[in-house]
Amino acid sequence: QCNNPTGLIGDSSCCDYETVGKLNVDFSAKLAEVVSMPFFRYFKVNLYKECPFWNGAGLCMNRDCSVETMDKSKIPEKWKSHNLGKVSMPSSLNQPFGMIRPVKPTIKEQEFCVPEEFTDEVYVDLKDNPERFTGYSGPSAAIVWKAIYEENCFDVSKEMTAGCHYCESERKKLEEQQQRHKDHQHGKDEEAVEEMENNILVPPEPAPMKPHKPSKREMEEIFSRVPKGKGGLQQLIQDIADDRNPEESCLEKRVYYRLISGLHASISIHICDEWFNQTTGEWGPNLDCFISRVGMHPERLENIYFDYVVLLRAVTKISDYLAGYEFCTGDDNIDSNIMNVVNELVGLVKKCPPTFDEKLLFQGDHKGQVQKLKHQFRDHFRNVTRIMDCVGCEKCRLWGKVQTMGLGTALKLLFSYDEESLQGRKADGVLTRPEIVALLNTFNRFSESISAIERFGVMYQNRLDQE
Ligand code: FAD
Repeated sequence: QCNNPTGLIGDSSCCDYETVGKLNVDFSAKLAEVVSMPFFRYFKVNLYKECPFWNGAGLCMNRDCSVETMDKSKIPEKWKSHNLGKVSMPSSLNQPFGMIRPVKPTIKEQEFCVPEEFTDEVYVDLKDNPERFTGYSGPSAAIVWKAIYEENCFDVSKEMTAGCHYCESERKKLEEQQQRHKDHQHGKDEEAVEEMENNILVPPEPAPMKPHKPSKREMEEIFSRVPKGKGGLQQLIQDIADDRNPEESCLEKRVYYRLISGLHASISIHICDEWFNQTTGEWGPNLDCFISRVGMHPERLENIYFDYVVLLRAVTKISDYLAGYEFCTGDDNIDSNIMNVVNELVGLVKKCPPTFDEKLLFQGDHKGQVQKLKHQFRDHFRNVTRIMDCVGCEKCRLWGKVQTMGLGTALKLLFSYDEESLQGRKADGVLTRPEIVALLNTFNRFSESISAIERFGVMYQNRLDQE
């Protein structure tokens, strides 16, 4: 049951699981080196924003949930400014996500990007705050995961969502509304006429995209099931997961689901890999935790590899830019040290076979619908990053923010830039420092997950041998 996945990763990835396992041997060592350097360890984050979607996110009071912040004076001035990377977003609609072409920032733009140091923002040394078991669980965590999976509904036409079961009901509602509107125009639907007269007819256009906010009823439903034991809650979330992962759903929805499920599984692996044993008071890997949360669910294992190839593709796409990046620590020796390690990483990336073909996504004859799907995909993912403010454990929130920003940065690189616009680019405005830090730390976290899968595999085999 706990065998490592084999065969093609699929869904726009032409890579196989075994290749990823082999590539990761070199990557894991190099990434570990990269993220241990101050440039990639110091992360600016706002951990104290209110949850924008529901009240009472609840705060985990465990000691392991808390985050140690840094003394800001340790941060080189250059890193505090946004000057090191400004993204310009033309609103052209006929390019993916409004295809971004990096432009040389004008002085005005640079000034605009000097950060407003909000009092709530803090710097965190990621190395001092490892992502691991914190004890955060129960309804607060489950509602966050539920909300994240619920972002997987794309409200586009029948053609684009063919096979996407989840949106069926949404689409039906919309069609009914449209029909009622037509009937009204032909004077057939008296109720609609009355509604119109009372000025309450909902316009037939799809409602503008807005974050899913669990209703009071939904919240009550979840909470009411919790006391009945873990099974009830697990079943509920599983139902959502199953619903989001229909066998024949459209590619974009599958990709979205796999990204989220892979992130969820990767976080679970980190929890199981650095588990706190309350009986012995020691930290260490917990094989049973791994088996029950990830190992016995092949698709969750596979989705971790899926995120890995997406991240690797993004890092490949940005590799020339990374190689020319000015790290500006204020110390030339440290700068050249970082450059050397990053160049070694770029060297590894360049040797990789192609792992993911983003051009296979968002294809179709109906340009308007394709564009709409792309925008929804982006907006839903943005919402996932906002949902992180609802995570009721500071440390989980920190790493949730790092990794959703890392994946979001990867998606931006894949779908908002074409090869040509990135080719030979240097540090003249592709990504901000936090985005680079998040991207490489996220890649490292997935790399660690894949290494952990190998280790857990050995532990599992040893256990079998002893039985
Ligand atoms: P959960 O992981 O909460 O999962 C809920 C349900 O979702 C499962 O029962 C299952 O039906 C389904 N599910 C689980 N995994 C997948 C998957 N990969 N794909 C599809 N469906 C799935 N806890 C820590 O100790 N340390 C952390 O750093 C940490 N970070 C977190 C970050 C975020 C953003 C969130 C939302 C939670 C975090 N947590 C963390 C909590 C942790 O993820 C779990 O929620 C908690 O450990 C309870 O786990 P569980 O076994 O009840 O199932």
